Amino acid sequence: MAYDDNNIFAKILRGEIPCNKIYEDDFSLAFHDIAPKAKQHILVIPKGAYTDIVDFGANGSAEEIKGFYSAVSKIAKDEGLTQDGFRSIANTGNFGGQEVPHYHIHLLGGEPIGALRSNV
Ligand code: 5GP
Repeated sequence: MAYDDNNIFAKILRGEIPCNKIYEDDFSLAFHDIAPKAKQHILVIPKGAYTDIVDFGANGSAEEIKGFYSAVSKIAKDEGLTQDGFRSIANTGNFGGQEVPHYHIHLLGGEPIGALRSNV
């Protein structure tokens, strides 16, 4: 899938639409999900134009990948998610239910998150 420059997270990165920012560095941006599915629901995105986890893993530079996952770790700790645990999710493609085609990790916590799937 080609990267779509007009996806909503690309617009957030360009500052064209606002976000409730939690963290930013050279490689990553983290903000609150606009429609939280848990008491804490954070989105972490790389600044590079990658569609999903497969694209990022295959085409991201070592510096970008290290920078991104270091940011995920820092945010999880700083936001208090590591104390009681949390769930990280990277929805990918159609079957994965990915809505925004810019790679992102959901961090869900602040309460028990429940079953991995509710319908099985
Ligand atoms: P996906 O289904 O692609 O894994 O998740 C996309 C997430 O982005 C959803 O949880 C949705 O609520 C969130 N989202 C969509 N548009 C916006 C927006 O404009 N701002 C923020 N902060 N989150 C958004």
